[in-house]
Amino acid sequence: MAAPIQYRKDKKRTEFLDPRNEYKLSEVETEIRYDPLTSTSSRICHFSRDKMDPPDLTEMVEASTGFCPFCPEHIDTVTPKYPESFLEGGRLSLGDAKLFPNLFPYDDVSALAIISSQHYLPMDDMPVQALVDGISIAQEFFLKKDNSQALGKKFYSMVTWNYMPPAGSSLIHPHLQVLHTSNPGNALRREIEAESCYYEEHQRNYMEDLIKSEQSSGERWVGTHGAAQWFVPFSPTGIIGDVIAAFPGKATLADLSADDIREFAEGMNNILKTFSEYGLWSFNFGFFPAADGSDPKEHWLYARIVPRIFVNPMTNAGDASYMQFLIEERVAMVYPEVTAERLRAGWKF
Ligand SMILES: [Zn+2]
Repeated sequence: MAAPIQYRKDKKRTEFLDPRNEYKLSEVETEIRYDPLTSTSSRICHFSRDKMDPPDLTEMVEASTGFCPFCPEHIDTVTPKYPESFLEGGRLSLGDAKLFPNLFPYDDVSALAIISSQHYLPMDDMPVQALVDGISIAQEFFLKKDNSQALGKKFYSMVTWNYMPPAGSSLIHPHLQVLHTSNPGNALRREIEAESCYYEEHQRNYMEDLIKSEQSSGERWVGTHGAAQWFVPFSPTGIIGDVIAAFPGKATLADLSADDIREFAEGMNNILKTFSEYGLWSFNFGFFPAADGSDPKEHWLYARIVPRIFVNPMTNAGDASYMQFLIEERVAMVYPEVTAERLRAGWKF
């Protein structure tokens, strides 16, 4: 049966007399794309330079080291602990990672996972072991913590990451947000609702159909490594695009084996390296799970990486504006097919 995935886009054109070309008539194209699942729209316009110069981060890294609460000399004395009744020992350690409550929580259960004792981990050589330790310690926390709060209700085990200041991180030291919540956020809630409707209508898993469609067209496909299938979404999220890793037949983080996590981390290391070759040095990352204990019938677990930039490094102008905040419209400066081509060229598996 053919996958019922619909890729919808509108082309827009504007004309003006261009001062950069002796005021000759010039035409500029914008494209609006609609997400095949939710119809959320993205504009692709203002095409960016091919490669940006990576900034020298030495000064920022050095200046932030002395007072970092997550460095080994401070972490045990300045970070909070959970009550024994909630988590035995108060904190978790796994490999080089540590997990404890967020002093500034977003929910009932809102932890931080410091993925490495290293203050700075470079995007062009993100250590696979740090990614493995970070994801694994979150997975262990979701199992070990007091789960009584969630009994009989829908809860979501979320792991997200703001890496470096353009992505919203106030601290350089790499740390994941680990959230156990009845409210997974608007984006995931809308997706899960839309996937349920899709399942009702077609008796099929949306992501399964999407993957088949992407794999057969190939223009946004990146590759497979271990349990994860990597591709670039048709309707972009970030200004420099984004990439998804979907986990067929798995619903939540609890469904990932140690091998799945390691192979995913190897894929992520590879993707981050390629992005960094284009001068990128910051990203948002998150897993999008089904509710705890769900079977993978309607929603497959996936992860999304969204590179973030200062659009003008002179002024530190951010890449989110009224578009994203007020009218909830995504804007991208790179075609998804171009992002996919770059990621495929760097794909080493
Ligand atoms: Zn540090």
